[in-house]
Amino acid sequence: MSANLFEAIESRITCKDAPFLETTGGDKYSYGDMLALSAKYANALISLGVKAGDRVAVQVDKSPKALFLYLACLRAGAVYLPLNTGYTMDEVAYFLGDAEPVLAICRPQVKDEFKALAARLGGMEVQTMNGAGSLAALAEKSEASFKTAPRKADDLAAILYTSGTTGRSKGAMLTHENLTSNARILRDFWQFTSDDILLHGLPIYHTHGLFVATNIVLFSGSSLLFMTKFDAAVLCGLLPRATVMMGVPTHYHRLLALKEFKADMARNMRLFISGSAPLSSETHKEFSARTGHAILERYGMTETNMNTSNPYDGPRRAGTVGLPLPGVDLRIADVKTGRLLPQGEIGIIEVRGPNIFKGYWRMPEKTAAEFRPDGFFITGDLGYIDDQGYIHISGRDKDLIITGGLNVYPAEIEAVIDALPQVSESAVIGLPHADYGEGVTAIVARNPGKVIDERATRDVLVKKLAAYKVPKRIITVDALPRNVMGKIQKKALREQYKNLFNRR
Ligand code: AMP
Repeated sequence: MSANLFEAIESRITCKDAPFLETTGGDKYSYGDMLALSAKYANALISLGVKAGDRVAVQVDKSPKALFLYLACLRAGAVYLPLNTGYTMDEVAYFLGDAEPVLAICRPQVKDEFKALAARLGGMEVQTMNGAGSLAALAEKSEASFKTAPRKADDLAAILYTSGTTGRSKGAMLTHENLTSNARILRDFWQFTSDDILLHGLPIYHTHGLFVATNIVLFSGSSLLFMTKFDAAVLCGLLPRATVMMGVPTHYHRLLALKEFKADMARNMRLFISGSAPLSSETHKEFSARTGHAILERYGMTETNMNTSNPYDGPRRAGTVGLPLPGVDLRIADVKTGRLLPQGEIGIIEVRGPNIFKGYWRMPEKTAAEFRPDGFFITGDLGYIDDQGYIHISGRDKDLIITGGLNVYPAEIEAVIDALPQVSESAVIGLPHADYGEGVTAIVARNPGKVIDERATRDVLVKKLAAYKVPKRIITVDALPRNVMGKIQKKALREQYKNLFNRR
């Protein structure tokens, strides 16, 4: 039997006139439109030579069309490969060289660069999303019906790149079964029905906005109130029309910063969900005091989809990520030995279930190293289980920085900074930041006789790195602190500069 995620979506649609998506600009799409438009894009993909199992890379702005393209890839049996629009061409070149897509869809302004890259890589077609001769134009002329391609449960539906801690990015391979099982579980756990309207202000190149939000809506027959980019003031205006919101902690923080954000705006809301980064207890409490709603915090990652959630009915406890979702096994192990730890002790979080990815694209050794022999995935997150069974995340094993809900891996930034002639070495750390959660900061040691100008260095980095990865501050020191083993003491640096952004 076929296990294509889209067939599961299709089989549930009972009313084609039911609303599926409305943009802030007032454009409306029904479930019937979703079926027709995803069919048109699927036909366009096929006419461009895309076959089942082929990768389709997509670096486009958030729009309803981009969502229909994701669904079209599922229907064609292709492997969807979304890329953050903030990635520079250097970064894109690495992803496309690694994933070898047959087709890359980009924004018109970078078409020439994509074409040059395609000529270098070979075997890859390039199409723009919009404009004359674009994929959208081709889709417009294509048939509005399409027979969804059969897929097996462990066939790939998507590859999402997660930046590697060693500087090398890894493509997380997500199967149809991974995405289908998680969407079903979350729909039921969070009690979504066709009456729900989800306020969607998240990017759609990341697991949160793409899979968690979109797939649950499709699995429940509910609808999306679709913001092409997050804006707290705009969101306030839309809130009275919504029943559920999914956001990153920065979104909640920004909402609370608005004086005009009042409880009455949330009069039709039944649920606020937060994830992708730790939500502070202060924000949880302040939100509850202002609106009467306890934000439901959940925990997941690109590789695993969602693992835990605070209860829908029952206490949503600030500072915790709740309990393992149905079907997910979760345990805590000693970081070094892998020995299982008793309740209450901090260790590495390991998870197992139908939600866990198939492995890293073309990295069998890396994949093997991150799984235990009994199938548990080693998340790299540190945490513990309290006496009520709730999971607490204590920190990250690998110095991952999360800024505004987006991950920044220091090794990648350090490699770019270290390549500058005036720099001898660097340490990139995340420091508490009232707005972003963490602010990316580089502590840089200069080469003898050289000067490091903060602004000039940032100007160079902006050309090489996506904006959210560029350090907000670059601090020059004579030498970085090291322990006797020669390791840079990032903990000491974090302590020393902890008030850099949030001065008291
Ligand atoms: P990503 O793969 O981009 O989704 O990032 C996954 C990482 O984000 C996890 O491994 C955690 O470190 C972090 N994360 C996600 N949700 C939470 C949460 N609710 N609390 C703390 N950290 C979280």
